[in-house]
Amino acid sequence: MHKTLSYIPRINRSLIPTKFIGRSVSTGGFNVKLSDDQREMQESARKFTKEEIIPMAAYFDKTGEHPHNIVKKAHALGLMNRHIPQDYGGLGLSVFESCLITEELAFGCTGILLAIEGTALAQTPLILAGNAEQKKKYLGRLIEEPIHTAYAVTEPGAGSDVNGIKTKAEKKGDEWVINGQKMWITNGGIANWYFVLARTNSDPKAPANKAFTGFIVEANTSGVTPGRKELNMGQRCSDTRGITFEDVRVPKENVVMGEGAGFKIAMMTFDKTRSSVAAASVGLAKRAFYEATNYSLQRTTFGVPIANHQAVSALLADMAIGVETGRLSWMRAAWEVDNNAQNRGYHAAIAKCYASDMCNRVASDAVQVFGGAGFNSEYPVEKLMRDAKILQIYEGTSQIQRLIIAKSLIADAMERA
Ligand SMILES: Cc1cc2nc3c(=O)[nH]c(=O)nc-3n(C[C@H](O)[C@H](O)[C@H](O)COP(=O)(O)OP(=O)(O)OC[C@H]3O[C@@H](n4cnc5c(N)ncnc54)[C@H](O)[C@@H]3O)c2cc1C
Repeated sequence: MHKTLSYIPRINRSLIPTKFIGRSVSTGGFNVKLSDDQREMQESARKFTKEEIIPMAAYFDKTGEHPHNIVKKAHALGLMNRHIPQDYGGLGLSVFESCLITEELAFGCTGILLAIEGTALAQTPLILAGNAEQKKKYLGRLIEEPIHTAYAVTEPGAGSDVNGIKTKAEKKGDEWVINGQKMWITNGGIANWYFVLARTNSDPKAPANKAFTGFIVEANTSGVTPGRKELNMGQRCSDTRGITFEDVRVPKENVVMGEGAGFKIAMMTFDKTRSSVAAASVGLAKRAFYEATNYSLQRTTFGVPIANHQAVSALLADMAIGVETGRLSWMRAAWEVDNNAQNRGYHAAIAKCYASDMCNRVASDAVQVFGGAGFNSEYPVEKLMRDAKILQIYEGTSQIQRLIIAKSLIADAMERA
């Protein structure tokens, strides 16, 4: 008591509203304490991961087959399409709650996770900016059966530089006609419909926020041709393809938000979905940490378990630091977006960059803890290292996240200057 009293006067108390003094529990603002419902949701996802994903992860990694049966079960249990608003038959979960599930599923396999929730990337533009008819028609059908959607923005010549995309849409009467090529599209060959970003302004100097339009394109429209399934380094059961659009006719009702609004919608989407990539990164890192810890207790060298060697235990401690801080980063980003905060894009970029970079370091360190066995595909950690890499690339590379963060910092500093 005496100690506390002698300490408190050193704080400039005028900065702290009196109602906060002496209160040890934060009841408002950012709060990482889970509610009973959230814990239950997390538990269900953990159980699904243990029973359905973990036993099949190596098989789908080796074969590259799409895990249709697991997707079907996830759909039936409500683990898919989690953001779709209740008005359209979905659960309408917050980003925070959805990320709790993502982290759990990612612990099992981020490839299977992507097969389950990759569809969310194309749903988000509609949830954010679609009209009621579009939501009813295109989100509603996803609730009825376990089908997929795809977000088709990247092209062979333009990924980070979205402004460089060349796919064109021209207005012809009551229709738009799309021509162009997309690349690296998740669910490219299995989607029921695509969100497609195309240039609609013929002026090559038009600013990005006026030059592009977002369209909903039914996959069975004449002129839509998905390419071969790409053989990727990791997350191999996810369906990644190029898609060609040749004179694809789309009714004007399928324009999302309005002509010229496409770039804005595509970027708003990432503010909402990047927390999820961060949560997936944490789930993968947690698995790597778990595998490395178990192995370090079983493997002995110089007469003791390798966990007893300080250099190995320090690696484990660094992994734990990564997992815990990575989780805080996605929680903060999800909280910002759920509260529609103005700086949600900044926090989404920090979480995506931090957690995906962390996850790659942790997965690589797990391989190190396993020694030679870590390099071999009979053990689980080499897959984790391969799966981790893409988390630093899709939905904006780590370099692009740093650009977003720096741009926001500089704009802020200039405003204050
Ligand atoms: C498995 C997989 C799934 C994907 N799924 C989808 C999907 O569903 N939908 C979709 O639209 N896209 C998808 N993508 C595409 C992905 O988003 C892009 O690959 C990514 O944005 C990078 O673009 P790029 O490949 O063209 O690389 P580039 O843009 O050519 O970048 C190459 C390198 O240069 C760096 N770089 C580029 N510009 C800058 C800069 N200004 N400053 C600093 N560094 C820079 C990048 O960080 C990177 O290291 C997927 C990709 C893969 C591999």
